[in-house]
Amino acid sequence: MHRVTLPSGLEVILSDTVGFISELPHELVAAFRATLEEVTGADLILHVRDIAHPDSEAQRQDVEVILDDLGLGEWLEDRVIQVLNKIDLLDVESRQVLGHRMARGNGQVLASALTGEGLPELLARAEANGVAGVVALEAEEVRRRVPMIASGVKSAILIPGEHVIDPWSAPLAYALQAIANGAALERNCEVVGGAFEDELWRLRTSRGMVSAEVVVNCAGLFGDIVDAIARPPPFRIAPRKGQFVVFDKSAAALVDTVILPVPSESTKGVLIAPTAFGNVLVGPTAEDQDDREKAAVDTATLKMLVARAAEIIPRLAGHPITAIYGGLRPATQFKDYQIEALPDRQWITVAGIRSTGLTGALGIGALVRRLYEKSFAGLKDIANPLWTPVPNLAETRPRPYQQGGSGEIVCHCEWVTLGEIEAAFEGPLPATSFGGLKRRTRCMMGRCQGFYCSWRIAQLAAGRLPLPLATGAAA
Ligand SMILES: Cc1cc2nc3c(=O)[nH]c(=O)nc-3n(C[C@H](O)[C@H](O)[C@H](O)COP(=O)(O)OP(=O)(O)OC[C@H]3O[C@@H](n4cnc5c(N)ncnc54)[C@H](O)[C@@H]3O)c2cc1C
Repeated sequence: MHRVTLPSGLEVILSDTVGFISELPHELVAAFRATLEEVTGADLILHVRDIAHPDSEAQRQDVEVILDDLGLGEWLEDRVIQVLNKIDLLDVESRQVLGHRMARGNGQVLASALTGEGLPELLARAEANGVAGVVALEAEEVRRRVPMIASGVKSAILIPGEHVIDPWSAPLAYALQAIANGAALERNCEVVGGAFEDELWRLRTSRGMVSAEVVVNCAGLFGDIVDAIARPPPFRIAPRKGQFVVFDKSAAALVDTVILPVPSESTKGVLIAPTAFGNVLVGPTAEDQDDREKAAVDTATLKMLVARAAEIIPRLAGHPITAIYGGLRPATQFKDYQIEALPDRQWITVAGIRSTGLTGALGIGALVRRLYEKSFAGLKDIANPLWTPVPNLAETRPRPYQQGGSGEIVCHCEWVTLGEIEAAFEGPLPATSFGGLKRRTRCMMGRCQGFYCSWRIAQLAAGRLPLPLATGAAA
């Protein structure tokens, strides 16, 4: 028996039963009864068979007949997952047929214990989607590129265009540019209802009424609730939690590229990645929950993440950890994003952006523009758009402390200067909470998590933030 922690954090015990042979004599069935009856103690049965064997189907029937003889047939019905192993030995067409059947939810899973199956399909899908330059790598080449990778690596796909970006500054830059080019932004302004009359939306918000000719609903975790203003929503938001562990900056010497496992149909899986801020992170998990607001972290899952990281990069085992955190993705019951224009309601839904929403943001924006133009009216490009560069937080370009002229260093773990803190309180979209200040500057986000600098930050924030030093939502 083996105890295994699944990526979701669930602990399971795997027990191997006997193999089966066809036409098992009755006396042997009796002899094996005790062993075979062990299956009745299992929550789930994985029926692993060699799908490349010419008698694979007959073998499946043999197993079912024997289990029937033992009186377990009916009991097993809802508890069996067929694991079709050795699919690497099948031709592409047979695999496609099996893949289609699996996608229709026939209770089968395709696997290859030998090759780390899935990579050729991924390669083909990447090419079909126009992702350029994707190449398959043999194990030796993977080890050359990532010397610290575990010795068991079998193969990989290299995606040369993959980049790590600073996830806080991109949305800030988009918002600042929108404001600079004429957008009005209301903060802490919850849309709570609305009516569509005379071809105009009158939205009720926590800060009064807002009129709109066209509404774009991009309310993330509340996308279905906001959509209900316009129609019975055809999707339901199912928050999917992701927990992360952030390793200390010293881990950056161990891994300098994003390492993703072969993704599944529901999640891209737990990855190891360098961050733009010089750390290495592992995560996220994919845990469904009902709560739309809280993303609690738990020790067992965090330990599992560290163990998973160490399976891929063994030297991450026991490496110091700087931070842990959780976030919620706005998943729905569908795999695809829920993006659609409702011309007769003068409404565009942009929901279910369950993952890679940051990567996809510009593409999603371009799609929404096309939907708007098709359903409502043409849009003109701004002749000379104003550009609003944001302060650089990434380690890949010079930071203010390296350039001089930004005053004292306030946060010594992350090298944040007085000038950067001051700037975060200025401009058309100033930080209004400590959470926001942290994400604008990286202050208090280093190894000491604010232990040394929070007194100075509290001094600088006095009178500028509504609350004294406390954690707050990002703003
Ligand atoms: C664990 C995890 C892993 C991720 N991994 C990746 C990744 O690898 N790559 C990547 O690109 N992205 C990743 N993401 C980002 C993911 O795609 C995001 O969830 C995505 O950004 C969702 O974008 P959104 O704009 O739909 O929602 P949000 O960013 O949540 O924006 C919705 C906004 O609407 C506001 N709102 C909600 N209700 C109302 C209302 N009634 N009235 C007014 N305003 C309202 C909210 O306050 C919020 O500001 C990850 C996220 C998580 C949590």
